[in-house]
Amino acid sequence: MTDPEGATPLAAIRARIAQAAAIARRPASEITLVAVSKTRPAEAILPLIAEGQRVFGENRVQEADAKWPPLQEAHPDLQLHLIGQLQSNKAEEAVRRFDCIHSLDRRSLLSALARAMDKVGRQVPLFVQVNIGAEEQKGGCAIADLPALLTEARAAALPVIGLMCVPPAGIEPAPFFALLGKLADDHGLGERSMGMSEDFETAIMLGATHIRVGSALFGERF
Ligand SMILES: *Cc1c(COP(=O)(O)O)cnc(C)c1O
Repeated sequence: MTDPEGATPLAAIRARIAQAAAIARRPASEITLVAVSKTRPAEAILPLIAEGQRVFGENRVQEADAKWPPLQEAHPDLQLHLIGQLQSNKAEEAVRRFDCIHSLDRRSLLSALARAMDKVGRQVPLFVQVNIGAEEQKGGCAIADLPALLTEARAAALPVIGLMCVPPAGIEPAPFFALLGKLADDHGLGERSMGMSEDFETAIMLGATHIRVGSALFGERF
């Protein structure tokens, strides 16, 4: 894969996205790069905004509330995605702050989000996070519980647009990406949030529409 010399990290990631999309015979415009800015200060985020990046991901409501208001004020076209676990008592803050939530994973959160969207008067697109590797301590809805959760989300008129996963660490992610794609197909959902710094090209080959890239853009986290 090319890594154009002298390119910024963002330019290099864009080139790799374009290359993976071309191999997969998909338009690169189908793939949204979510720049995961959790733990990064505004000074690290501003250069990406200056380069034209508009979609950012945070994993905590409180951190986003502290960091993003001035950035959003200066750049009203920024989109903020919540990629981390959400507590039901933060649902309203999340619906006010975020433009997309990738971590709907249980019935109690579903009803909290439905109430919050009603109250705030704002429909925020949702991904259902699936515990794709059936890991004990990992967030996400069990595959067996997915049909019931989606039925309930539809009954509550929640705007579920797709599925999200974080495959088990340390093993080949491709089978898990393929499985998430199949589950999304089975349920008629078009969007797939999968792929991170280490594996986003594989995810693109397997149908990712949203890739969540942090350390490849910002450097390792400390
Ligand atoms: C931190 C995080 C990412 C980004 O991970 P990198 O390996 O730094 O690209 C993606 N998705 C979720 C859910 C995360 O918490």
